[in-house]
Amino acid sequence: MTQLPAPYDSLGVLITTQEIAQRVTKMAEEIHQKLPPDLMIVSLLRGSFVFTSDLIRALHLASPSKTSGPQVDFITVSSYGNQTTSSGTIQVVRDLTEDVEGRPVLIVDDILESGRTLTFARELVLSRKAKSVHIAVLLEKPGHRKVDINADFVGFVIPDKFVVGYGLDYANYYRELPFIGVVNL
Ligand code: 5GP
Ligand code: MG
Repeated sequence: MTQLPAPYDSLGVLITTQEIAQRVTKMAEEIHQKLPPDLMIVSLLRGSFVFTSDLIRALHLASPSKTSGPQVDFITVSSYGNQTTSSGTIQVVRDLTEDVEGRPVLIVDDILESGRTLTFARELVLSRKAKSVHIAVLLEKPGHRKVDINADFVGFVIPDKFVVGYGLDYANYYRELPFIGVVNL
């Protein structure tokens, strides 16, 4: 039997379900104010699938009467590297299905930390001739940035702790949690 990385009852709640829901609603309003409705949403798997699914529905509620809405695609990128060097290499594991050429793109990710993942994703989308690229992240962890990149839309700035839940994992566990938690090991 697989060993769980930590007991579920040792989790601390950092951001509640209700706080997430309220913020996602606000973010959708901000996105609706600034960006066109015919977005190509590029969601980075696996961590952002829960956030993306809530965000697209919040986008609909932010503008229910429009005649055009977003399309959604997914990409999986993986970073390979080791703890002793600060250079992480990012690779595409599963590519986009859709053509982003000429499209306004909104990249959606779970958390912005070093900035490498989002820099890679933005460069990729730009190299495929997207019309514009914006970035939305649920969480931002300051103090670890290795690349100069900022998100256009940020849900929460969080302390320097390893967080799980709402799509974010530890060893592929905890993604199902409806809140953002901290593992107290
Ligand atoms: P970056 O390339 O910005 O350093 O890395 C962002 C990625 O690292 C996120 O997409 C996420 O997969 C992972 N990550 C960074 N911090 C955390 C964290 O606190 N918890 C989890 N579960 N993943 C994290
Ligand atoms: Mg990720």
